[in-house]
Amino acid sequence: MSVQFVSSFAAGDWIAPSSGARSIASAITGDVIATAGNDALNVQNMLDYGRTLGGPALRKMTFHDRARMLKALALHLREHRKVLYSASFNTGATQTDHLIDIDGGIGTMLLYASKGRREMPDSCVYLDGEAEQLSRNGTFMGRHICNPLQGVAVHINAFNFPVWGMLEKLAPTLLAGVPAIVKPATNTCYVTALCVRLIIESGILPDGALQLVCGGLGDMLDHLTCQDAVAFTGAAQTAQKLRANPRIIANAVRFTAEADSLNASILGPDAAPGTPEFDLFIEEVSREMTTKAGQKCTAIRRIIVPHSDTDAVIEALSTRLAKIQIGDPRLPSTDMGPLVSLDQKRDVLAKAALLATEADQVFGNREVVSVAGADPDKGAFVSPLLFHCATPDTATHSHTTEAFGPVSTVMGYQDLDHAVTLANKGQGSLVASVITHDTDVARALTLGIGAFHGRLYLNNRDSMQEATGHGAPLPHMVHGGPGRAGGGEELGGIRAVKHYMQRTALQGSPDMLTAITGHWHPGAQEIDAETHPFTRRFGELAVGETLHSSAREITLDDIEHFAKFTGDTFYAHMDEEAAKRNPFFPGRVAHGYLLLSFAAGLFVEPNEGPVLANTGLDSLRFMKPVVAGDHIKVRLTVKHKTKRNADYGEVRWHVTALNQDDEKIAEYDLLTMVAY
Ligand code: NDP
Repeated sequence: MSVQFVSSFAAGDWIAPSSGARSIASAITGDVIATAGNDALNVQNMLDYGRTLGGPALRKMTFHDRARMLKALALHLREHRKVLYSASFNTGATQTDHLIDIDGGIGTMLLYASKGRREMPDSCVYLDGEAEQLSRNGTFMGRHICNPLQGVAVHINAFNFPVWGMLEKLAPTLLAGVPAIVKPATNTCYVTALCVRLIIESGILPDGALQLVCGGLGDMLDHLTCQDAVAFTGAAQTAQKLRANPRIIANAVRFTAEADSLNASILGPDAAPGTPEFDLFIEEVSREMTTKAGQKCTAIRRIIVPHSDTDAVIEALSTRLAKIQIGDPRLPSTDMGPLVSLDQKRDVLAKAALLATEADQVFGNREVVSVAGADPDKGAFVSPLLFHCATPDTATHSHTTEAFGPVSTVMGYQDLDHAVTLANKGQGSLVASVITHDTDVARALTLGIGAFHGRLYLNNRDSMQEATGHGAPLPHMVHGGPGRAGGGEELGGIRAVKHYMQRTALQGSPDMLTAITGHWHPGAQEIDAETHPFTRRFGELAVGETLHSSAREITLDDIEHFAKFTGDTFYAHMDEEAAKRNPFFPGRVAHGYLLLSFAAGLFVEPNEGPVLANTGLDSLRFMKPVVAGDHIKVRLTVKHKTKRNADYGEVRWHVTALNQDDEKIAEYDLLTMVAY
């Protein structure tokens, strides 16, 4: 078999392996299939290339431009995913594993493409939270904004997810407007390199937005500045070493780590054998033990069950694990492929031996493994290994030693407090699952273990058909955990994008804030609308354009008519004496919804025109009651515009309803779609 030379992509050129290159073996056969790495990579050049070419090009784009770019990229990769599948078998992954790594990575990128367009502005400045009133008269206010870092994100990834591992970091980074240098784990870098080649050759990314280091990273971390960021996934020890880099410490370079952890799954006391929850628990644990041959940072390492159910759990799990077919991952009949390498096999077996010093091995064989379609002595195959630790309170390895393979330990708990103590002995994990149908159990465990876990997964008969699985990090939800799990956080929707941006507290006048953010702030200059704004098309409307309506009186007849018409005869609108007894009202008051309806009647332009639809109200507040005889008027201002497509865009209007004394009675944002 020919050996593949896996190139890096540095400063616009593909650089073949040379001095310092490392050999990579097939997980299935142990044969060398590739070589990667070149000590001569000029890391300073790479950083400069990203900072001076990729960064400025990305920052010129809006969040929506970048989201569209991500969508195009994800669709391109989806079209070519079969070549990634083919390359990936040699890592030991089965076709089911590919769906998690390759399709999961593409799905994550698509989710960021969608969230970027729905939850971020079509501009270069991201607003974090609402405006803050900093002065009595509103002439000085505050707002938090986020701007992309002006350096490079260095992503150091683990071997187990060569595609997802890259894309889950790359999507939020590019969406933020920051170029990336990706360094995959050498063992599986040939899959990542293929994916990077597909991306580069698509021409979808601007030059300098993505570079790749296969093999050693050299001294790149020694050249980082405060505008760079490092995101690491891998072993806790490596994370500790890298984050202690003097340059990273001196320049306070952002460093986020997602490291291995001793994740637990807890069976509720209610979930006895015979319940749907018991069966679900066995299913989830066995799946987590064997998917990717247990090489998942979220895999279940500790199985925490009621003491009285320990034997039943061991028996049910053993029955289940006995059915797992181990073999060449290319065979459709294979449930579990080999570990990534013989080194990893040695490491897993050594760690299993440590676990065996304080726990009984109750399933599996550390010496012999039956393998279909491959040579068990040449490939990195191991059997699933189940341990039972009868003394979990005094055991240490069961809570601290992660055998990164299909290895897990059952331990019994006496009561919920004990289950909490055991789960938290992991000293910080990415995820714990709780399988129970009892909401009190779920609540007690959540309060007890929440602070030690980045994610809690609750499942039972009601949710199991649609639940996404203990081990699956979802792009919507944060992924990361405290302590042993690295103390970092990834994903979690737009939260991850903010990891690559600087949050700045911006203080100034409403005009300053409006000019910088593109959002009109109350108190900023109003532009008189020459014609009714509802007669103007999306492109013709200016932020700040304002309509002041005429006033109308609210009469008792109006209130009674509205009450009868809508059926809303709540006492505060109908009964003077009862309303007076209410501390909020001086007597009968107008309905809030009546005010909204009359406000619309005051500002609307009735004829057919470019305003297509009212899609919602945001941040509605009723601020002062309105009684019969009051006069109301409305100020309607273009607050923000977001182009949606070639036909229309969203216009967000700031609406303030005032009484005859110019006191605010209601305030809200009105959302409309307006023809382009
Ligand atoms: P490592 O921590 O050794 O490697 C992770 C990444 O860091 C790889 O890309 C590796 O590159 C890189 N790296 C290692 N040393 C340096 C360095 N000095 N400078 C720059 N980059 C460096 O983990 P492994 O992949 O070897 O796995 C070991 C253990 O880590 C597993 O057994 C498991 O316990 C845990 N793990 C945890 C994962 C998680 O998702 N949390 C995932 C995978 C593993 P290279 O490959 O070139 O050495």
